[in-house]
Amino acid sequence: MAIVGAGPAGLTLAQLLHAHGVESVVLEARSRDYVERRLRAGVLEQGTVDLLRELGVSARMDAEAIEHGGIHLQFAGDRHHVPMRELTGRGITIWGQTEVVKDLIAARLEAGLPLHFEVQDVTVHDVESERPRVRYRHAGADHELECDAIAGCDGSHGVCRPSLPAGALREFSREYPYGWLGILAEVEPSIDELVYAHHARGFALLSLRSPTLSRYYVQVAHDEDVANWPDERIWEELQARTALAGWTLREGPILEKGVTGMRSFVVEPMQHGRLFLAGDAAHIVPPTGAKGLNLAISDVAILGEALVALCRDGDATALTSYSARALRRVWRAEHFSWWMTSMLHRPPDGDPFEERLQLAQLRYVTSSDAAATSLAENYVGLPWG
Ligand SMILES: Cc1cc2nc3c(=O)[nH]c(=O)nc-3n(C[C@H](O)[C@H](O)[C@H](O)COP(=O)(O)OP(=O)(O)OC[C@H]3O[C@@H](n4cnc5c(N)ncnc54)[C@H](O)[C@@H]3O)c2cc1C
Repeated sequence: MAIVGAGPAGLTLAQLLHAHGVESVVLEARSRDYVERRLRAGVLEQGTVDLLRELGVSARMDAEAIEHGGIHLQFAGDRHHVPMRELTGRGITIWGQTEVVKDLIAARLEAGLPLHFEVQDVTVHDVESERPRVRYRHAGADHELECDAIAGCDGSHGVCRPSLPAGALREFSREYPYGWLGILAEVEPSIDELVYAHHARGFALLSLRSPTLSRYYVQVAHDEDVANWPDERIWEELQARTALAGWTLREGPILEKGVTGMRSFVVEPMQHGRLFLAGDAAHIVPPTGAKGLNLAISDVAILGEALVALCRDGDATALTSYSARALRRVWRAEHFSWWMTSMLHRPPDGDPFEERLQLAQLRYVTSSDAAATSLAENYVGLPWG
């Protein structure tokens, strides 16, 4: 197996294949240091946690991650708790994507398995045959790898998806006028569980990474320049958008900040010949539903099982239905992420009709057990299948 990309999808797939005795080579364009520091997601569904445990890369997560049984929705001056564990029997785990990636890289390198960083000029060939090939340049030499299948786990700007013939894939997308300005601050979190705040000045999210690191976001324009946001302005907006009588948002040094524009995107099918797309290479969700990382992991759980059947038993049946199985879950997450995004963000023109609809929906999900359960079961992650 050739795996292009050492993000959560590629590394988890490699670990899963190794656990079943299937050989793979992982090719990554960036350096190990860059990949291990890239600050992104931090909410893990139970299915993701279970798979990491099964693959033997959960020791630090089990010792240090934080379990949450709910989230708070804040709007119209009040904060409401959605007790997800009570409603669904499941919770979420707060553990950074950077930490997941570090543990997967360490496990692979400790096992002496091939994972090449800083590869260049990756190209894929003969994907419509049963022996596709990947060419790349590494450490000053050209290489060619012939394999049973290629996993395109190279994210939204990778090479695998664009190298497929025109017309092989259909694209579905939605652009949003919103972006998130995210910060990592060295300060004890001011909240016990995540706060999603709907506010006339725009959405805000209070999240965390550890007992000493807080991860906070404010809604900005999708193409906002981070240079317009000195630290004081960020804290002022966070304070205004999350203010609540009797509660204080603690401030601390900002270690990192960046803007992410929001987009929904899916390609169908997620496979062509012997090239299989997984994670952000095949789909993007706006981060409001905390689904991007979890979808990447559930894709490779399905793909890994099918590849093991091919390589170990010579049975390609499960591979033919990989895309159809993965897409059922992908579209459910796309809908949930779009719905959460639409409910919580201030439209750019502040359309009062839309604002009233948002408030009506927020009141409904915080007053009806049926509506809260629907939000909760999607947020904690529907069972994999
Ligand atoms: C700034 C940002 C913030 C995010 N925040 C959240 C969040 O708060 N919550 C959430 O759920 N999700 C979030 N996401 C989404 C989540 O991080 C992704 O869904 C997740 O990283 C997907 O994993 P992946 O392995 O599919 O792709 P990636 O993590 O993108 O990994 C792809 C890998 O392929 C490598 N690569 C690319 N091109 C090539 C090439 N030509 N050759 C070799 N290697 C290549 C890349 O360097 C990268 O290491 C965020 C994403 C971004 C960009």
